[in-house]
Amino acid sequence: MDKKEADKELLAIDSGDMFQPYRWSVGKYGSKFLLELKENKKLFGVKCPKCGRVYVPPRKVCGRCFVAMYEFVPVSDEGEIVVCAIIEFGFVDPETGKQRPVPYGYVFVKLDGADTALPHFLDSADPEKVKVGARVKAVFEENRKGSIMDIKHFTLI
Ligand SMILES: [Zn+2]
Repeated sequence: MDKKEADKELLAIDSGDMFQPYRWSVGKYGSKFLLELKENKKLFGVKCPKCGRVYVPPRKVCGRCFVAMYEFVPVSDEGEIVVCAIIEFGFVDPETGKQRPVPYGYVFVKLDGADTALPHFLDSADPEKVKVGARVKAVFEENRKGSIMDIKHFTLI
């Protein structure tokens, strides 16, 4: 097998059926973010009192000013792609345990009103349309569970 072929080869190890339950706290800020997403389809960030940056998802301390942040602010469910990729390599989604159909888009979205970017899936893999600067909108799951996957994916607008 030449190097090019070897790079494409996927190894699979059959470990049988396995189930590992887990539970971990997302903290106060993560809880508010995920509850608003689940209950109201609203997205919130937290604003730095010193520099004014709005972080989405919210975090406790501004990474630039090292000050605590307490002010939650709503942000839009629409925004702009700041980083994008079209994935053409198989990937088992840890949220579902199933392989995502390829190709698919993966983007970092700066929501309107936010200063940071939120990574998520995009429902398009069209190289003519999936570009930095393209406008996108969140598509919410109908039955939300309190997870970042309550945003089903983003879609181009
Ligand atoms: Zn700051």
